[in-house]
Amino acid sequence: MPHPLLSVEDVSKSYDGFKAITNLTFYLFEGELRTVIGPNGAGKSTFFDLITGRAKPDKGKLDFGTDPSKSHDLTELNEYEINRLGIGRKFQTPSVYTEHSVWDNLVLSLKGPRGVFASLFHRLNSTDRDRLDEILKTVRLDAKRDWKAGLLAHGEKQWLEIGMLLAQEPKVLLVDEPAAGMTDDETDRTGELLLSLAGKHSLIVIEHDMAFVKQIARNGQVTVLHQGTVLCEGKFDEVQSDPKVREVYLGRGKHGTR
Ligand code: ADP
Ligand code: MG
Repeated sequence: MPHPLLSVEDVSKSYDGFKAITNLTFYLFEGELRTVIGPNGAGKSTFFDLITGRAKPDKGKLDFGTDPSKSHDLTELNEYEINRLGIGRKFQTPSVYTEHSVWDNLVLSLKGPRGVFASLFHRLNSTDRDRLDEILKTVRLDAKRDWKAGLLAHGEKQWLEIGMLLAQEPKVLLVDEPAAGMTDDETDRTGELLLSLAGKHSLIVIEHDMAFVKQIARNGQVTVLHQGTVLCEGKFDEVQSDPKVREVYLGRGKHGTR
């Protein structure tokens, strides 16, 4: 068994006495696409807050790196430092620069301490240009590279934002409910996109839509969070037929079908 890329061990986090995360243990392996599901308020977004340094755990370990002798203790780093290590997060609502073109949005996301002006007026080297061209194709926006981002459809904005994450060359992508508000067709394409990123990147995708979870989970692991801790983990079919899961989540019907 290889060493995990991300190790979360016995982590807890309370807000004013309310336990948002309780003794959570979770391992992500390199190249994996992990799906995290759970009812509203289960602690899914808080879990991302802890990984990205937006919130600090009250206790527990968060380590990043496949080489144990060189791994990084995320509890000691701030949000910026964690991002620079290669952990990128996509929030639920897209936040693209609406007045800039699709292409410029990607340029603005490149790694490096450039200001907006320098980014847009400094000539890109050919390596960066080729890489951004490749990203545009990956997120299927090459035909709309000159469009103002504000004019894109909701789904396209989400893809652009995934492209902006990719421009930073992250090792890990944390994606929070990407299919929310999407049409069925956009949801399908988003699933394909995320599946195409696995292997080269490692991903944790939080999702509610069970049809979408089924699509992206394929042979991968699904983690079910409930009341801030792991209720169950396994293949999609195992998780779906687990009586505990059915009771707290799938059995409610609301999220059981699309
Ligand atoms: P999910 O994403 O699974 O729907 P969240 O992680 O957003 O759940 O929230 C889990 C619980 O933790 C909720 O009850 C929420 O109100 C609480 N919580 C999360 N972040 C904060 C915060 N910054 N301050 C206070 N309470 C919070
Ligand atoms: Mg959430």
